[in-house]
Amino acid sequence: MSTENYGKWGCPQPKNEIPGRIPFNLKKYQAELHIHTVLSPCAGIEMIPPLIVRKAVELGLNLIAITDHNAGDNVSAVIEAARDKDLTVLPGMELQTEEEVHCLCLFDTLEQLGELQALVDRSLPPIQNNVEFFGEQFVVDSTGDFIRRKEQLLITSAKLSIEEAFHAVRNLGGLFIPAHVNRQAFGLIYHLGFVPTDLDLIALEISRHITPEQARQDYPQLQQYPLIQSGDVHFLDDFLGINQFLLNEPTINELKMAFKGEKGRQFCLKPGFDDSQP
Ligand SMILES: [Zn+2]
Ligand SMILES: [Zn+2]
Repeated sequence: MSTENYGKWGCPQPKNEIPGRIPFNLKKYQAELHIHTVLSPCAGIEMIPPLIVRKAVELGLNLIAITDHNAGDNVSAVIEAARDKDLTVLPGMELQTEEEVHCLCLFDTLEQLGELQALVDRSLPPIQNNVEFFGEQFVVDSTGDFIRRKEQLLITSAKLSIEEAFHAVRNLGGLFIPAHVNRQAFGLIYHLGFVPTDLDLIALEISRHITPEQARQDYPQLQQYPLIQSGDVHFLDDFLGINQFLLNEPTINELKMAFKGEKGRQFCLKPGFDDSQP
């Protein structure tokens, strides 16, 4: 049994557990769940699979999610690049709903992501990317080599409401987390005006420039939700990696259990957010 203690990473002491010890069936995961690749036109050219994996491993992360704007074409390449590492890569997407709200959609398998992709492809306007204006949308292999350009413009809203998107993701067995909810650009609170309590949202993401305490103070409606915090990684230096979980295995179901504090699963944010920018 590990003797690592919870207090070290700022978690509240779990109920019904041996103080200071991680139960034998659980493992600590340090996660960054919002990472863009060169498929996102706003991401740096350095955001290729081997460099993403190297950076994550350097930072001691063992769980990441790839979440490009409205597309998952580079996920399999990152999974492949992480194959010989102690690093789980969850397939994901940052979906932009018709309300212009960004939402992280995370899955266990590429097949589930593929199903969401098919829906999103049907729901995006048939507009070609303007490379000069928005930037390149590269699909790459596990070494980062160019495969093709994605022609369809990705940074736009899909014709899916947040409610439709939530149910689509949940029906596929995924985890739906509204992204950077406190941010003016594409954040839930600014664009919808409230957190929809009729959706069974399990967690929300706050942006990197606010503490969870401040976020809960500024937006009291956040108080009832676990808050993850991500770097919204568009460049290698954007990694935060401060989401910490105690899980039996790195799956969507276990993440859900951790957010709910079920069966000893835990979630907490390690202190150390980046407040260097406004
Ligand atoms: Zn976003
Ligand atoms: Zn993002």
